[in-house]
Amino acid sequence: MNGSTEIKLSLLDNSHAFMREAVAYAISAKDDARKKWQFAILNLVQSLELSLKSLLFNIHPILIFENIDSPKHTVGPLQALDRLNNPTIGNVVSSKVEWQRIQKAIELRNQMTHSEFILRPEYATAKFFELFAIVVYFQAQHLKIEVEAIIPESTLDELLAIEKAIKELAEKAKQRITDEGIDSELVYECPNCQNYSFVIQDDINTCYTCRYTAETFECEKCGKFFFEWEMEDFSNEFDDDYVDGEGVVYNNYGYDYYSACTECVAIIKDDIAEQQMEYEHPSRNF
Ligand SMILES: [Zn+2]
Ligand SMILES: [Zn+2]
Repeated sequence: MNGSTEIKLSLLDNSHAFMREAVAYAISAKDDARKKWQFAILNLVQSLELSLKSLLFNIHPILIFENIDSPKHTVGPLQALDRLNNPTIGNVVSSKVEWQRIQKAIELRNQMTHSEFILRPEYATAKFFELFAIVVYFQAQHLKIEVEAIIPESTLDELLAIEKAIKELAEKAKQRITDEGIDSELVYECPNCQNYSFVIQDDINTCYTCRYTAETFECEKCGKFFFEWEMEDFSNEFDDDYVDGEGVVYNNYGYDYYSACTECVAIIKDDIAEQQMEYEHPSRNF
């Protein structure tokens, strides 16, 4: 491993380590323990700062230094933000609100570390989840690492159980859906968190809010996609028989598939019944 790869990995690994630390504090703080929320936020801002540097490093390793002609000290978070925002250097496409929130988060961290600053627990909780959603979004969008690769699933579940988490994550999920140009027809209500952020486009099959995944199936009759439990097997409508111990379908009534969405299955069953009637009582108008 060369030196530059080492720096790159340590920036990214450390951003993840701080994120995990932040989440651990948040889970143990629940709704009170304001000190713990503060530590949670401090760790999260640290994670965010390292995420910014990781992205700068990906653009060009020299960019993580304050002075590129004399690379001694690494950039501070605000300078990192400026560079990423600079169209001739980073040109990282992100919304203005996004940058403002990141900037505010860094300022908040500075206030917290430089004075006897005490956050109200309510505010701290809200702030934590706002920031957490930003880090999750930033890692996924710019560093191509999804949150489930950073935080274990059971820990993530615990975090999501804290009410305010969902709201912030759902908002960010919406933004990501827009950013990625996902067709709204291909965004479903998530069976896990009930937000409209379950993306089925391109077989993503993942909720952008809670990261729940489930396979989806195309109904061959209507062409829409459904979850497994919304599909119904109608093969018992076919005429079949056992030949040498094996089931053989000798009449599928023109259906070369055997499951469809509930709505279509009702139509298919009617159609098969009609065909059977036709067979048993052929119309006499010939
Ligand atoms: Zn969900
Ligand atoms: Zn259908």
